[in-house]
Amino acid sequence: MIVAVAKETFPGERRVALVPSGVAALTKAGFDVLVQSSAGDAAGHCDSQYVEKGARLAETRDEVFQADILLQVRSTGADDLARLRPGQTVIGMCDPLGSPQVANEVAATGVTLFSLETLPRITRAQGMDVLSSMATVAGYRAVLLAAEALPQMFPMLMTAAGTLAPARTLVIGAGVAGLQAIATARRLGAVVSGYDVRPTVKEQVESLGAKFLEMELDTATAEGGGGYAQQMDEEFYRRQRELMSDTLRATDVVITTAAVPGKKAPVLITAEMVAGMPQGAVIVDVAAERGGNCELTVAGETVVAHGVTILGPTNLPSEVARHASQMYSKNISTFLLHIVDEGQLKLDTEDEIVAGTLIARDGKVVHPLVCELLGSVLGSVPGSVLDGVPGVGKGEDN
Ligand code: NAD
Repeated sequence: MIVAVAKETFPGERRVALVPSGVAALTKAGFDVLVQSSAGDAAGHCDSQYVEKGARLAETRDEVFQADILLQVRSTGADDLARLRPGQTVIGMCDPLGSPQVANEVAATGVTLFSLETLPRITRAQGMDVLSSMATVAGYRAVLLAAEALPQMFPMLMTAAGTLAPARTLVIGAGVAGLQAIATARRLGAVVSGYDVRPTVKEQVESLGAKFLEMELDTATAEGGGGYAQQMDEEFYRRQRELMSDTLRATDVVITTAAVPGKKAPVLITAEMVAGMPQGAVIVDVAAERGGNCELTVAGETVVAHGVTILGPTNLPSEVARHASQMYSKNISTFLLHIVDEGQLKLDTEDEIVAGTLIARDGKVVHPLVCELLGSVLGSVPGSVLDGVPGVGKGEDN
């Protein structure tokens, strides 16, 4: 079977789905690895490195899309839809919960589509967990962006020219990205506090040498299934903002990563709170792509308001493309090897890893959550899309 790596075409995307050091594991498993020429360039991997590791090069995109299995970071661009065919398997990230219509369009081509963002976060799937990998890179990069935009240094320095105060940094949302942001800011010498609605996170924040910001809020119901945050009511968020205002008045850097799976990010910093922050302060809103944690964030842009710089980056992992690709490559090849047996795909839908990531098959969207979202996005969903989905469509179970 031919496994191909397509060059990413999304604007500004620098990552590649497979790095040269990942080729051997796939050839050993019996795959013929085909890489589109220059696919790895932006991540620091030239064509000859792939060839040295046993891959073949494809000069044209059409040739790549002839493969049995396609590995991508972002799957699949509108320009490629016409290149897809029934029987082919596409593995990547297609944001099925954020853009279910895209999954629907890809489904119509007849490919078997897997999206790694919906992988269950269970222990045996840790090696495939792209969300954790990319969040790790995002948390690191967010702090570097803040350090660049801040008109002061992060560490405290005592010099002959006087004492320089350390950057007071607050990380809101201490999940994977937030914890990496705390660790990075600490390494740069900042004085760091962390906050999360999930009380269990306190110990993790403190183990990184940061202070946990205590707030008098009832968080008994804040943690839901899988260790994720639950959406709280507006009164909770109002009180949270109120309690956080004082802290922000004495904060130079805020990194916000607060998110609730499948929902718009909660607004935790209002324009009024920004106005109360020190002049020159910086907010890096890692949740920008999901609506942002700051009211003034503009996704993909830098806004200066009340003397505060607010960054709304939307693809932080791509800015550290080599390491992001290395982690992604390991995740995607571990996943691929999990779903093949003796060189053939084995789609065991009883396996929660397969069931959680299988988005489309036989011309239909089959992931229950994506079907549900499609129903509300499209108003009415063509019968074929919902047919055969347990609890959603009609017909036999998939
Ligand atoms: P995420 O990106 O969905 O959210 C980021 C953080 O924002 C979370 O910690 C969440 O609690 C926090 N948050 C939400 N609303 C908030 C608010 N109003 N104020 C402050 N913080 C708020 O989450 P994530 O980083 O992808 O993962 C979160 C958790 O998932 C992990 O800490 C862990 O428990 C679990 N997880 C498990 C595995 C595994 O077992 N393999 C892997 C990764 C993550």
